Amino acid sequence: MSDTTVAFSDLNLNPSILKALKDEGYETPSPIQAECIPLLLDGTDVLGMAQTGTGKTAAFALPLLNRLDLKQSKPQLLVLTPTRELAIQVAEAFQAYARHMKQFHVLPIYGGQNYSLQLKQLRRGPQVVVGTPGRVLDHINRKTLDLSALNALVLDEADEMLRMGFIDDVETIMAETPESRQTALFSATMPQQIKRITKRYMNDPKEVKIAAKTSTVENIEQIFWKVAGVNKIDALSRILETEEYDGVIVFARTKTATVELAEKLEARGYAASALNGDMNQTLRERTVSRLKSGKLDILIATDVAARGLDVDRIDLVINYDIPYDTEAYVHRIGRTGRAGRKGKAILFVAHRERRLLFAIEKATKQKITEMDLPSRDIVTKKRVTAFRDQIQQVFSEEKLHFYQELSDQLSEELSLSPAELAGALLYLAQKEKPLQMPADPEPRKSSFREDRKDGREGRRDRDDRSSRSNSETWDRYKLEVGRNDSVEVKHIVGAIANEADINSRFIGHIKLHDSYSTIELPEGMPDDLLAKLKTVQICGKNTNIEFLDKTKNSRRPSRPHRGKSKPHVKPRREQRS
Ligand code: AMP
Repeated sequence: MSDTTVAFSDLNLNPSILKALKDEGYETPSPIQAECIPLLLDGTDVLGMAQTGTGKTAAFALPLLNRLDLKQSKPQLLVLTPTRELAIQVAEAFQAYARHMKQFHVLPIYGGQNYSLQLKQLRRGPQVVVGTPGRVLDHINRKTLDLSALNALVLDEADEMLRMGFIDDVETIMAETPESRQTALFSATMPQQIKRITKRYMNDPKEVKIAAKTSTVENIEQIFWKVAGVNKIDALSRILETEEYDGVIVFARTKTATVELAEKLEARGYAASALNGDMNQTLRERTVSRLKSGKLDILIATDVAARGLDVDRIDLVINYDIPYDTEAYVHRIGRTGRAGRKGKAILFVAHRERRLLFAIEKATKQKITEMDLPSRDIVTKKRVTAFRDQIQQVFSEEKLHFYQELSDQLSEELSLSPAELAGALLYLAQKEKPLQMPADPEPRKSSFREDRKDGREGRRDRDDRSSRSNSETWDRYKLEVGRNDSVEVKHIVGAIANEADINSRFIGHIKLHDSYSTIELPEGMPDDLLAKLKTVQICGKNTNIEFLDKTKNSRRPSRPHRGKSKPHVKPRREQRS
């Protein structure tokens, strides 16, 4: 949030609401809030041109909460939303903002919910009802929703309600509400039918539009990541591990989020600190000078705290939470690319926030390109490179005589080759901070575009069996399961194919021994896949798969299947080995 200089405390909101905002970690009103709150507090009708992500819920919820009479247990405010999800979300927001208001009740009502439960809840006398048009109208018709004390009505995402065919219901509901009520209508666009409603049912509404100014940000490379599949904090770490940067600012929306993120990043070994309005001036100045001097590399800031921040080192800005408006975005990314240098800005955009992305592109007159999140494989490679550099440094700077002798002695005592000993030592050295990224615990969810791509690739993998290349180098791996564990070849094929989502045609020769087995897999299996395979159980034992050597095999292709479709597994017969 950018140019707004108003504070919540300037807006005549009651102390219990201000307290809740503090709990929420909101620092300053977003532009739409700064404009709407005084108008709605005043009893004026408002026509808000705003979309999700601008803070519009609080823009109407805060002033209208302020006007409730909590002694009265009758609906005084009705909010209509297009979907049940939004109804719940809005009701939750009311609950949060009213957490210090005793005797406050809000009730979400929507289709598909049990009527008798809703009736019971309606009898408790909520002051605020948030519902979808169809169900609200049902209750009006059944005379189970008393609108006699209603003094405010909000239409949230009016254009969505129109698009979903609810507009007639909305009009009927409006006609049923007392004429004296105050009305607020929020819509990202203003189609003709909505304009008509505003003329017919609203009382000289004030239009609130957050103008998107165009701005230039030429020397800054702008990219976005569509939030999907990986949680935002993991995505942030992957980016921080793989991007080249000197100084970074990560923008979060709330003060609480800045502190949480800073703690999480510090726990992951980054020199990171929060910068927010809760910190006093001295502490803020100290934090900024630590960034300037290189003692800190990453600041996690709110818009207000980072306003005017001028540190040449900052060459990367990450918009962890998308800003409410384009101006805030321009301010944020302007923290990089200082003094004519080049900068990079990464924006996290959830599906429901995509409209804000388009608005930013329009305002900055620049296309923001989509990025893929660095794969676990890339992260692992980065870690290995950094580890290698560390080894090189130790080798050139430290006296290693004692250790080299010890290593000779250990190889001899343990009958280990130098590679085997080095493997064990490397494992120990990285155990606390593993080089390999572990597999995600939850299945990977992809964006719509990726889904389509995966679908196509999955089909091609299956249909394309005849066109495989057929002279390839394979990697041979050892599995710590064998005949003594009652393991058969089909168990191994099944486990590897299903658990790792590898098409069975990418599985080469399998050989069973008493205490272990060997398996050929295509050359260059991704490390993350191997990490996952290690913990796959066959006949109750982890495979603990380990690379053995390379083999030449003239029968099978080399591309592991990484799509989402199920691999086709043909049980293998032992004669193959
Ligand atoms: P909305 O546009 O109402 O969907 O709000 C988008 C998000 O912004 C929600 O997660 C709100 O909790 C958050 N939010 C709303 N107002 C503020 C504010 N003044 N400061 C920080 N976060 C806010």
